[in-house]
Amino acid sequence: MSENPNESWLNSFLSVGKIVTREQHVRFEHIAGVFTGLALLLALISVQLPFGQAMDKKVVYPFVIVVGFFCIVWFLIIPRRFTGLAKNLIHTVLVTLYVAFLIYTNPTMGQNLIVLYYVIAVAAAVAMPTFFSLTITILVIILIYTEWFLAGATSAGFTSTIIYTTGLLIVVFYTRSLAGEAAYARKKEEEVHLEKEKTLSKLKDEYIFIISHKLKQPTSAIKGYTDEIIKEYSQNLDSESKETLEFIKTNDERLEKLLDDLLDISQIEKGIMRINLTDVSLSPVISEVLSNLFLDAQSKKISLLERGDLNTAVKADSDRLKEVLMNLVGNAIKYTPDGGKVTIEVKKEELAAKLFISDSGIGISPQDQKYLFEKFFRAENEKTKAIKGNGLGLFITKQLVEKMGGEVGVSSEFGRGSTFFFTLPRYRW
Ligand code: ADP
Repeated sequence: MSENPNESWLNSFLSVGKIVTREQHVRFEHIAGVFTGLALLLALISVQLPFGQAMDKKVVYPFVIVVGFFCIVWFLIIPRRFTGLAKNLIHTVLVTLYVAFLIYTNPTMGQNLIVLYYVIAVAAAVAMPTFFSLTITILVIILIYTEWFLAGATSAGFTSTIIYTTGLLIVVFYTRSLAGEAAYARKKEEEVHLEKEKTLSKLKDEYIFIISHKLKQPTSAIKGYTDEIIKEYSQNLDSESKETLEFIKTNDERLEKLLDDLLDISQIEKGIMRINLTDVSLSPVISEVLSNLFLDAQSKKISLLERGDLNTAVKADSDRLKEVLMNLVGNAIKYTPDGGKVTIEVKKEELAAKLFISDSGIGISPQDQKYLFEKFFRAENEKTKAIKGNGLGLFITKQLVEKMGGEVGVSSEFGRGSTFFFTLPRYRW
């Protein structure tokens, strides 16, 4: 935004009434339709009033009928597809010509009706683009001069014509400047609001980052001590104490995973997530992930399989790739009932490697599939109720895969199982 006030004024002046969307045009048209109808009603009422004698009924009635008919065709029958600036311009020009005709055919009322020109020009000045406003103002000025000419071109009439037209120009410029300044003030207000929201959101990210970071230390310590107690003193513990320690350990691991996820998300959202792309052979990475998750699978009697072009090399960040696989294979185990099957399959394509993680689990409904990769989304049904999670894993997975130049997707059948897949560019020597 310019700091120069003159430039701001001109910018605001020129940018008044820029109608951008079709919806705005339709709304504008709707207002024009309602007010034209009101104007017709007023004309009909005025000819009934005592001062109505000054208006020629023989002119007003046919005109109300013609204009009324025009409005019905224009605003109701002509399909809404024909909408936009051209339609608004044509409508305003026709209304202006209609006013000109009224003035011309009602010489006694003519002077009073000039105010209608002002209303039209001011309305165009505050609500329409510069070209539109200019066209209407020029048209009105031409009509005022034409009426002076047709009324006999008297010198007294010329004075009032100059006063009317100069007055009109001043009023148009004044109202357009005011409308411009009002729009400018609104824009400024919106900018300040947006800036405030950005600062708040940044602070929130920073806050989450610091808290998660600080909480990592005690959680790791709890895990270390619990592991040590279980390892060193297990023979001295009764089964209830062992169970309690296992419970502490599981919940501590969940807390650690949540903190890791929050740290990832704040890095992604701050744009500071570092991805170090190198050539990575899939085979050892997959083996490591499977061995990390072996105990989880074993406790549910789930068989873990790997197959396909496992020896493919990809361009990826090895730690982030492990994180992606841990999320997807971890979910496959988590959402598969006891005795099921989870498979990782690699397919080598011309430019990319495609990894499929399939399970024989609970599956995902088509409705839930739409939101799977959104932050904090968890499918809510009878089967997922008892399974713990935070709804962040798939969101992070998608961000990481995309940052490494790949894509993620899913195909699933509710109650029968799911296949998550992602691609990564192949490493080429
Ligand atoms: P969560 O920590 O809840 O597992 P995710 O982001 O990893 O978070 O997954 C989001 C949701 O997607 C889960 O809550 C679950 O409803 C669904 N989901 C993910 N993976 C699977 C899967 N393999 N089978 C069935 N549902 C899944």
